[in-house]
Parts: sequence; C-alpha cells; structure tokens
Amino acid sequence: MQFTDLNLSAALLKAIADKGYTTPSPIQLQAIPAVLGGRDLMAAAQTGTGKTAGFTLPLLQLLTDGAKVQPNQVRALILTPTRELAAQVAESVAVYGKYLPLKSAVVFGGVKINPQMMALRRGVDILVATPGRLLDLYQQNAVRFTQLEVLVLDEADRMLDMGFINDIKKVLALLPKKRQNLLFSATFSDDIRRLAKGLVNDPLEVSVSPANTTAERVEQVIYPVDKNRKAALVTKLINDNNWQQVLIFTKTKHMANKLSLHLETAGIKAAPIHGNKSQNARTKALADFKKGEIRALVATDIAARGLDIDQLPQVVNYELPNVAEDYVHRIGRTGRAGAAGHAVSLVCADESKELAGIERLIKQELTRQVLAGFEPVNVLPGSKLNTKPYKPKKPKAARPEHRDGQRPPQQRSAAKPAR
Ligand code: AMP
Repeated sequence: MQFTDLNLSAALLKAIADKGYTTPSPIQLQAIPAVLGGRDLMAAAQTGTGKTAGFTLPLLQLLTDGAKVQPNQVRALILTPTRELAAQVAESVAVYGKYLPLKSAVVFGGVKINPQMMALRRGVDILVATPGRLLDLYQQNAVRFTQLEVLVLDEADRMLDMGFINDIKKVLALLPKKRQNLLFSATFSDDIRRLAKGLVNDPLEVSVSPANTTAERVEQVIYPVDKNRKAALVTKLINDNNWQQVLIFTKTKHMANKLSLHLETAGIKAAPIHGNKSQNARTKALADFKKGEIRALVATDIAARGLDIDQLPQVVNYELPNVAEDYVHRIGRTGRAGAAGHAVSLVCADESKELAGIERLIKQELTRQVLAGFEPVNVLPGSKLNTKPYKPKKPKAARPEHRDGQRPPQQRSAAKPAR
C-alpha cells in the first residue's frame, strides 16, 4: 500500500514526497483512512512509529474543506504534554501542510504569552498547545473554541503521568460536544481508558509496536561500573567509539547539569536539557545537537520525552530510570524508522533492582560488558531474569514546579501577560 492509495490530496502527497517517505508506516495505514472517514480514534503508538504524520496528514486534509476560521477561533486542537513535543508536532504540521493555505500556531509555557496572543488574533486552523498555557490564553480571551472540529491528545499517558488530568478536564469542558477525537498513547492503562470513556465516541482502536518491539531492534549492552567511575567511563566510551551524537539520560536535573559540565571539561561539547532550563536554552540545545554542534545532550526523562531526532545512533543511560517503562521510552530514541540503534547503560550495584525490573519488562537478559580499568569494586549481582509477569509501578506525579509546559496553578491564576 502506498501513500497514493490513501486518498490524500496532491498537496499532501507532494509534501510527503519532499520528506522522502515512500511507504506509510503501520499506524499511518490504519489511522489515515479512519480519520478521513470522520471516526474517533484510540491509537496505542509510541514515538518513532510515525504517529505524528498519522494524525497530521488526515487532519490537514479534513481542514482544507470547511468554513474559514474566525478571529481567535481554532478548528483543530492538538494537546501535548511537553513544550518540546509541542514544537515538534507544530513543525510537522508546517512541513506536511506547506502546500496548503492553512494557518497553524504553537503555544506553550515558559516563553512570553504576548506573541502567542497575537498569533491567535486572526484565528488558526490548527493549534498545538500544552494544557497550562492554553488555559492561560483562554482566561485572557485570546482563544475560543466555538469553531472547533477536531481534538487530538498526543502522548495521553505522559499527560496523566505529569499530572495534567485536571487541566485536560478543564479544556474538554470548553470544547463543543460535537467534534472528532483522536487519542494517542504509548499504552492503554486503566487510567487512559477511564479518560477515554468521557472523550471518544465509538472509536476505532488501533495498536502498533507493543512496548518491547523497540527494545528488540535496538542493540543493548550494560556496563557494570562503580557509581564514582561513571563519568570517566562515559567520557571514555564517547572518545573511544568516536560517538558524534549521543543522548545521555540522567535521573535528576542536578546530575544532568553536573555530567554536562564534566563532559565539557573533558573536551566533549555537551548541554543539559531539563525542566529548569529556560525554553530558549532548551530549544537552542536541541537545535545545536541536531546540527552537530553539540555531541552530547544530557537529558532527564521528561525533557527527552517525544524528542524527534532523526536516526539517533546512540543512547546512554547514565543512570537507570526508576520506572522500567521509561527505559523502553529512552532507548526508543535510537533505531528510529527502521534504522539500527545502540543503547548502553552504566549500572552500579545500587541499581540492581531497577535492572531486574527492566529485564522483566523487556523479557530479556541484557548483555554485560566490563571495560578494562572500570571493573566495579561493588559488584553488580548477576541477572536473575524473573519470569513473574511484570507489574507496572505507578510513576509519581511530578511536583508542579517540575512540570514541563506549565507553571504551577497558583502562579497561573495570578499571571498577567508579559509585556
Ligand atoms: P513519530 O513517531 O511521529 O515521532 O515519527 C518518527 C519518525 O519517523 C520521524 O522522524 C518521522 O519524520 C519519520 N516518519 C514518519 N512517517 C514516515 C514514513 N512513512 N516513512 C519514513 N519515515 C517516517
């Protein structure tokens, strides 16, 4: 099946050809006809499956017909959990819609609100937004939803993890009852199903790439190492393997800063990316990384979620995540769109519990490699791959000041537009 078989307009097919895509991905094959047919959709699909084009392409086509957008109105709203994902989705909307006369905008917290109010003044066909800033804009009469036709919730599971449920409910209450709803989530947990109940209407349910397929096409290795030798080991791995573009995960913002400084001192261009960095600093770090001016991007899970970096060859887990599913999300950054990927994890003795949880989730014992000179003094216990079914751990909701894309509620209600 080709893109030409999907009833997409010539303008969209041209944009797809410009991108160099030849065949639709499985999620695109399922989602595009359903959305074009006006159906609600519940899709289990992770980043890396082509899900963004899966909803953006039919959305653009649907919006090509229909009434012209009125001032401050929005015809399609795409909600995302993080600023980075909002920016990336907006970029996709612009790229796929480049031959169409549709207007789009993106709004998220952490940057001035005034330019966003201006961008909404004449109305936009597609608005990509994080929930907190969208509510701010609504309170300031900058956006209205009477013309809304389609709602997309992207990475709904992460929105719930990040504590956006109340904001989502507030947004839903502002939208017209009659609309098309598309819900994308990496997994369909009970919480997501509960949210979906009041949201979608007779949806088509599609599912691609279950949680561990990503893990299967990424070559994974762990290096048992003492905690205090991790910085030296990652520096050596980057230098010896001549990695030019490596995404490194840490558990905390503090560690991201510390490691980034360490790498810089060792002559490896690096930048940290996390929720305490200003939006401009984050956007610049990501752009420099994509351009190859920064070799190592050191990120926390929330900041890295949804980052679309084409064919990232190398991911390093400097520290294992507390929640095993995050390991799968992390290594999903590499080996994208069919390319082979490589992920290494530096694991100290303290992390044996996290490691066991990951191996149980991916049903795979990870290959261990000890580098000469880095033999751990505190030995990492051997793997005992537990065949008991994996029981997901409920991730802790982030504290409000840790949430990306949104300011804490008490600040928000007192917020004035930046002038
Ligand atoms: P997503 O899952 O939306 O984050 O997309 C993952 C990556 O796959 C992005 O870099 C897209 O540009 C790319 N992509 C999306 N659709 C296709 C396709 N049909 N063929 C090849 N690459 C694609």
